[in-house]
Amino acid sequence: MTHFDYICIGGGSGGIASANRAAKHGKNVAIIEAKAVGGTCVNVGCVPKKAMWYGAQVAEAINRYSPEYGFDVTLNKFSWDGLVASRNAYIERIHASYDRILTANNVTLIKGFARFVDNNTVEVDGEQYTADHITIATGGRPIIPDIPGAQHGINSDGFFALKEQPKRAIVVGAGYIGVELAGVLDSLGTDTHLVVRGHTPLRHFDPLIHDTLADMIHAEGPTLHNHASVEKVERKDNNTLAVHLTNDEVLEADCLIWAIGREPATDVIAIENTDVELTEKGLVKVDKYQNTTAKNIYAVGDITGKAELTPVAVKAGRLLSERLFNGQEDAHMDYTTIPTVVFSHPPIGTIGLTEPEAIEQYGEDEIKVYTSSFASMYTAVTRHRQLTKMKLVCMGKDEKVVGLHGIGHGMDEILQGFGVAIKMGATKADFDACVAIHPTSAEEFVTM
Ligand code: FAD
Ligand code: NDP
Repeated sequence: MTHFDYICIGGGSGGIASANRAAKHGKNVAIIEAKAVGGTCVNVGCVPKKAMWYGAQVAEAINRYSPEYGFDVTLNKFSWDGLVASRNAYIERIHASYDRILTANNVTLIKGFARFVDNNTVEVDGEQYTADHITIATGGRPIIPDIPGAQHGINSDGFFALKEQPKRAIVVGAGYIGVELAGVLDSLGTDTHLVVRGHTPLRHFDPLIHDTLADMIHAEGPTLHNHASVEKVERKDNNTLAVHLTNDEVLEADCLIWAIGREPATDVIAIENTDVELTEKGLVKVDKYQNTTAKNIYAVGDITGKAELTPVAVKAGRLLSERLFNGQEDAHMDYTTIPTVVFSHPPIGTIGLTEPEAIEQYGEDEIKVYTSSFASMYTAVTRHRQLTKMKLVCMGKDEKVVGLHGIGHGMDEILQGFGVAIKMGATKADFDACVAIHPTSAEEFVTM
């Protein structure tokens, strides 16, 4: 039996961040990882997705925008293999860098699947390990619906394992992953259909965002099927999938991707051997310090179900280690006003309250909204003019900015700086006091 000061179960965003920070404070630390170091984000999430999104941006630049910029381009071929190879080589470099950092910090990497034996002990492949403190950072897994033929579809992990570009694809789901994967496939030339059960994708985002996104999808693709769910899936003799929708449409494709959310995998780690309580959905219950209901067991990241984003898992993991191993007794993650980007086409950036949320929270009289709508300059000099739309949601007499939302070219890179301002409590007057940078899209936020 080997003893550590600290064990992180899961070598993804949260586990690695917490383990490295604990090791920097002189602790004897282990990470247990069942698959690949880096977890979802590095291997089947943010990183490969963004590489594919950049590939899609190149395709759009060539196909849509290059002529009016004076280029007479003949595209001989797009190689899915080529893009996947570059993406995978990049991920290999990230793995190597993670290995170097773990080694430099003397963090022990135990490869295998961990199950709890008791509150202080985990077992991996017959070996037992004890620790004074254990963090559960095991993330989530994609949900597959319980309908006939669902097994013919793949999930986002399967998307990243595709060896060939699908000619026709159906993506089901109205969230981040559905929108992002459908957008990538569509821009790279797959005949893509996005199926959502509500009236629009991303329906919990600000109305300006989801309405504009829906308009753009109608104008540019993929083909949107709203108010539709999948009833059953059949594989035909020629290997084509027939996807039957509740609105009586039958779509055919060679690839079906489920993107209907993710669930925690707490059912397979023998959690019942501990005092850790779960929510009805199987998420680990934590307080604001990431403490579970079991003494000396903590949880960070997607497994807690709060803002399932890599930087959130990283920050929560690091702050936990600061609290446990560096005497920062009150260190804890602030889950309010978290900036987030959807890598759609064009990208979406959002932070804080939507207009309906702000009205519900503060009352209509307290809320003032500023909007802007314009063709982004990158597209405005071409025939493919694409709108950018922005909104500031301001509250009270001093017009504190409580929400900022945008969709348009460059929005992915615009948001971070405004996130700082909003976190600091900026008002509309503070925004106005900042001199615009011209000509940019971002300047609209300080000139509304
Ligand atoms: P994970 O990164 O999921 O790590 C958990 C790790 O635990 C995994 O490596 C798993 O193998 C391991 N594990 C599980 N059980 C055990 C066990 N019993 N024993 C040992 N190991 C175990 N977020 C963003 O901020 N930006 C994005 O652009 C973005 N894009 C995404 C795209 C996709 C397709 C997906 C699926 C997610 C995306 N996310 C994005 C979300 C982000 O990936 C997650 O929020 C983040 O990875 C959560 O980190 P985590 O540490 O909680 O879990
Ligand atoms: P989400 O929870 O974001 O979206 C899934 C959506 O699918 C739901 O919002 C729901 O939308 C719809 N849905 C749920 N159940 C069904 C069903 N049975 N049939 C049809 N549709 C259904 O999950 P994702 O899997 O897209 O992403 C998981 C999380 O990962 C995200 O919430 C995000 O935190 C993170 N992520 C972040 C990214 C980024 O930062 N860029 C990128 C990718 C993921 P509705 O109710 O409207 O139908």
